Amino acid sequence: MAFDPHSLRQDFPILSQQAYDHPLVYLDNAATTQKPLSVLDAIQDYYRSFNANVHRGAHYLSDNATTRFEQARDTVARFINAPEQSHIIWSKGTTEAINMVAYGLEHLLEKGDEILITSLEHHANLVPWQQLAFRTGARLRILPLTSQGEWEDEYASYFTDRTRIFATTQVSNAIGVHTPLQAMLTQAKQHNAFTLVDGAQAVAHYPIDVQALDCDFYVFSGHKMYGPTGIGVLYGKSHALEVLIPYQTGGEMVQHVTYQSTQFNTLPYRLEAGTPHIEGAIGLAAACEFLTQQDRHALLAWEQSLAHRVYTRLHKESHVAIYSPEKHTTLVSLSVPNIHTLDLNAYLDSQGIAVRAGSHCAHPLMSQLGVAGTLRASFACYNTLEEADRFCDVLLEAIDLLT
Ligand code: PLP
Repeated sequence: MAFDPHSLRQDFPILSQQAYDHPLVYLDNAATTQKPLSVLDAIQDYYRSFNANVHRGAHYLSDNATTRFEQARDTVARFINAPEQSHIIWSKGTTEAINMVAYGLEHLLEKGDEILITSLEHHANLVPWQQLAFRTGARLRILPLTSQGEWEDEYASYFTDRTRIFATTQVSNAIGVHTPLQAMLTQAKQHNAFTLVDGAQAVAHYPIDVQALDCDFYVFSGHKMYGPTGIGVLYGKSHALEVLIPYQTGGEMVQHVTYQSTQFNTLPYRLEAGTPHIEGAIGLAAACEFLTQQDRHALLAWEQSLAHRVYTRLHKESHVAIYSPEKHTTLVSLSVPNIHTLDLNAYLDSQGIAVRAGSHCAHPLMSQLGVAGTLRASFACYNTLEEADRFCDVLLEAIDLLT
């Protein structure tokens, strides 16, 4: 195997600790990734060297902070191949970015309009649309993707002339399948619907090109791609961002205010009220640089090979049900009949192995799979073969003990 994660792990000091006297094995990367030194340094450097509020001050530190903050926006724009930095709106994360769009498009929806999402969505890409439908009288429709994420011809009929918004995940957080993005986006565009792609589970693994995707909105969180928590991105095409009613109002997003009216600022500031998460943006830019400096294809191949290794080993066990695809995924989601996933999780944790058990914020998908929850091991670039094997060994040990 060409890629060796061991040297990369030096950049992630958190990974070299013991958990309950066992080497820590961190396989909860789909929940959040660990942060490399370059991200930690960038955040510390901001506070040590140029902490000041941005855009409003006219002094040395503020100029410096503003420059670095706006450079971070440029870096993120390049990272996803956005045409210009004005297309990048900072948010707290994927959830807030989706809410910004759901709130911002409300004025365009009428009773009887349709909002279409898929059956594989995280609650973050479901509840905001459901609530928007309640508020406007629009109808929330669900594209019933198979749990393998395959496109079937009859799905085209879900896109109608009333479809105003189509929102889909790129990769399922719960089971790791890819949605048939291009086929769905093509249909949505033929019906002039706004399109939103939830890239929360994609950005850490796949190079993203928003212009090639040609979606109206693309959203993601920094913390799932080696960046800090509390920062995320709403990318939008100009016309799509222009029609959004600002989700929050206040300082920074205005050009002129009187008691009678407010003239809003231009993009991207129009959609960013208040003091932004400055060190978050700077840390996220450092995470983009960290990823850009890697051989992205080698990283992805490595992560997929780890998931495939676990799949191949556990697939042979008749009592293990696996919900993830065999290939082209970076996580393995499974359950064991008659053993609660929380019990498996507790045993793995006692051996220093961090995974995620539960419904993964995807209750409807769990119902579709016919389970209350799954156990998910999700891989990042710093995970090793030994860790993948240890996860399998300890899981099988737990199954023996709990059966
Ligand atoms: N969408 C997907 C596919 C996710 O996996 C997650 C988080 O797990 C989210 C949305 C929500 O992200 P955040 O909690 O960072 O806003």
